[in-house]
Amino acid sequence: MNFDNQHVWHPYAKIPNNVPTYLVESADGVYLNLKGNIRVIDGMSSWWSVIHGYNNPTLNQSMKDQIDRVSHVMFGGLTNQPAIELCKKLIEITPANLDKVFLADSGSVAVEVSLKMALQYWHNKGLRDKTRFITPKGGYHGDTFGAMAVCDPENGMHHLFSDVLPKHFFVNRPTIRNTSEALLDLEKILKKNHQRIAAMILEPIVQGAGGMNIYEPEYLKGARKLCDNYEVLLIVDEIATGFGRTGKLFGCEHADISPDILCLGKSLTGGYMTMSAALATAKVAETVGVLMHGPTFMGNPLSSSVANASIDLLLSSDWQTRVIEIEKILEEELLPLKSKETISDVRVIGAIGIVEFEQPLDILSTQERLISEGVWLRPYGKLLYTMPPFIISQDELKRITRAMSSI
Ligand SMILES: *Cc1c(COP(=O)(O)O)cnc(C)c1O
Repeated sequence: MNFDNQHVWHPYAKIPNNVPTYLVESADGVYLNLKGNIRVIDGMSSWWSVIHGYNNPTLNQSMKDQIDRVSHVMFGGLTNQPAIELCKKLIEITPANLDKVFLADSGSVAVEVSLKMALQYWHNKGLRDKTRFITPKGGYHGDTFGAMAVCDPENGMHHLFSDVLPKHFFVNRPTIRNTSEALLDLEKILKKNHQRIAAMILEPIVQGAGGMNIYEPEYLKGARKLCDNYEVLLIVDEIATGFGRTGKLFGCEHADISPDILCLGKSLTGGYMTMSAALATAKVAETVGVLMHGPTFMGNPLSSSVANASIDLLLSSDWQTRVIEIEKILEEELLPLKSKETISDVRVIGAIGIVEFEQPLDILSTQERLISEGVWLRPYGKLLYTMPPFIISQDELKRITRAMSSI
């Protein structure tokens, strides 16, 4: 029995873990080099984050340069140039009117900060009953307490805590078929309860970890309008969808909408460091006033410098063409699987390919099978999906889709 298995907690797992963990010795480009001379293509981009691949010389250099100046300094009363530059960039590239930035240290924390902002906004406006949130079922916003409470209430991850968590409003989740009904449901609940609701929170265009569900831009447009009509703020969580993953730089752009508060994370640093951001409009920020939140590693210079390098690298590349090429191959290779008896649905958007099986997949055997095909993917329930680094070649991508087809 190895030490990792006996003493180290892994995500969503127990100790000892009944599924093996593979030791990564190094990584380069789209490849992970596992112990025992096993080289696999990372089809997960380390949970959406490693968009430029591993060991990128430009990103490496940005951190080496920064580490010799200052790697960390507190953000209370002090500031640093990489963080200032990052905030400038984020304001420039995100949807309109978001021009006040709160830098945090993980996606969940950016969600917590966004929820706090929304509550404090209405509190300061004297509307003290607006203390609840509204969100589509099937969402995922993180594992901390505030974030947990707006995740799908039934899909399993957090139901254990349901007696402790505040009760929010859950509406029918949008899909690619039910936009008008889903909007009617949203309107019905807003109409009745808007005096108690501070904000709506949702993931744009794709719901990620809560079920890998794609929906229509019209839902986003409709939700924006309803939030305005019923005086509810709109928080858009782009932690998974941001930085090109869905074919637009941000998911909001599919519907040409702008939220009151936006959350970013995951690929913000190209997957190099932990960092997130919550951006707000001036109207929100001015009403909120002093925000009682301040992570120790807020505005970390090393994270900020690699985030700057990652954004520059993305914007100076032809990422959009690449993502469209990835989308095309995912469609060609995966959509035909719909005809298989064991598969109930296949969905593709941007650089995301999802295969949904009729039955839950056995993690152990599926994982072994994928690794023998030279591919790293993490099956989840009935879902097997890929969101590869944007730098992946056509041949490498086809190795992923063929491995998926073999399951
Ligand atoms: C991953 C994720 C989070 C949580 O981010 P962490 O960095 O894991 O805390 C929140 N929202 C969405 C949409 C995510 O995909």
